[in-house]
Amino acid sequence: MKYTRRKFITTLGAGSALLMLPAIPTFSEPLFSGDKKLGVALVGLGNYATHELAPALQKTSRCYLSGIVTGTLAKAQKWKDQYNIPDKNIYNYQNFDRIADNKSIDVVYVVLPNSMHREFVIRAAKAGKHVFCEKPMALSSKECEEMIAACKKAGVRLFVGYRLHSDPFHKAAMKFRTEGDSGVIYVQSEFGFKIGDPTQWRLKKALAGGGAMMDVGIYAIQAARYCIGKEPISVTAQEYKTGYKKFAEVDETITWQMQFPGGHVSNSSTSYSVPLNNLYISTERRWFNLMPAFNYAGIKGSTNRGELNLPEVNQQAVQMDTFSKCIFDNTESDASGEEGLKDLKVIEAIYKAAKSGTKTKV
Ligand code: NDP
Repeated sequence: MKYTRRKFITTLGAGSALLMLPAIPTFSEPLFSGDKKLGVALVGLGNYATHELAPALQKTSRCYLSGIVTGTLAKAQKWKDQYNIPDKNIYNYQNFDRIADNKSIDVVYVVLPNSMHREFVIRAAKAGKHVFCEKPMALSSKECEEMIAACKKAGVRLFVGYRLHSDPFHKAAMKFRTEGDSGVIYVQSEFGFKIGDPTQWRLKKALAGGGAMMDVGIYAIQAARYCIGKEPISVTAQEYKTGYKKFAEVDETITWQMQFPGGHVSNSSTSYSVPLNNLYISTERRWFNLMPAFNYAGIKGSTNRGELNLPEVNQQAVQMDTFSKCIFDNTESDASGEEGLKDLKVIEAIYKAAKSGTKTKV
C-alpha cells in the first residue's frame, strides 16, 4: 500500500472524522475588522496546496486565494473552475515574473519541492510580492540568507510555513517553561513516518536537500527550540539506515541531542521508516506531553495537572491570517525568514555531527 506523508499525518491519532469538523476561529485573536484582504497566489499545486492550503484559504478572514502558479495545465483548469480564479491570475513557472504587474496578488506562497524554494522566493521578492515559503525554508543556511536579503532589498515580508506556531497546543508548549518552577528543562521531540513511493522527490537529494530530517525532523528541532526558548550551542547525532537502495540519497533515521545555554537539553528523533509523533517537556517538578504532537488535527495533550482542553483550529488558516496581520500592521512574526534560517543552521550541524561522530557547534 502506498502510504503517503499526508495520509499519515491526517490519520495518525486524528481520525478522519476530526478532519470534517468545521474550523473554530482562533481563540486568542479578534477577527479582522477591516474589509481589505490580501490576495494569495499558491505556487505548486501538490498535496499540501490542494488538500490543506486552498481549503484553508476559504476560511481565512485577512487573505484569500486569488491566483495560482502551476506547471500542470490540467490542474490550472481544475482550480480555475473549482475556485473561480480568473485567467489573468493563472501563471506557470516560465511566465511567473509577470505577476509583478498583477495588483490582485499581494502574496506568493511557495509550496514547491524544497530545492525550488530559493528561486521562487527570490523571483517573488523581485516581483514586489510578500512571500510565504514552506518549510524547510531552503536547502542550506546560505540559501536562506540570500532569500532574506532579496526580500529585504525588495521591501517585502518573508514568512515560513511553521503551522504549529498557530496551534493552541504548541502555544501552550511554548509557554510551559514560564509557568512554574524554572531550572533545567528536558525536551524530547520526535517526528517520523513511513514514506511510500520510492520514486518521489522527497527521496532525491537534489530536490529535497535531505531526507526525514529536512522534511519532518525540522518540527522536532523547532519544538525543542521554542519549548526551551533558547538557541542550541552544540549537537551530537547518530544516523541509521535499513533501506540502502531507497535511502541511497537521503537520510532515513537520525537521532540527535542538542545542548542549550543553562544546561537545558533535548533528545530527538526523525525517521522515514518509523512512525514517531511525540513532544515531551520536563522540568524539576512538572511535565507536559503532546501525543500525537505534530498533526494537522487531533493533537492530544496532558500535563502533570491533567488533560489539556484546548480548541482545535485550522492551523493553516490561522497561520495565513496571522502572517497577513503582520503585513497589515507591520509587526514582527515568530515565523520569519530569520526563524527558518536558524533551523537550517541546526540541521547543518546535525548532519555534520552524524557524519563525524563528534559534538558539533551550531
Ligand atoms: P507535492 O509533491 O505533493 O507537490 C509539489 C508540487 O510542486 C507538484 O505537485 C508540482 O505542482 C510542483 N513541482 C514543480 N516542479 C516539481 C518537480 N520537479 N517535482 C515535483 N513537483 C514539482 O509536495 P507537497 O505539497 O507535499 O510539498 C511541497 C512543499 O510543502 C515542500 O517544501 C514540503 O516540505 C512542504 N510541506 C509542508 C507541510 C506543512 O505541514 N507545513 C506539509 C506538506 C508539505 P504543479 O503540478 O502545480 O506544477
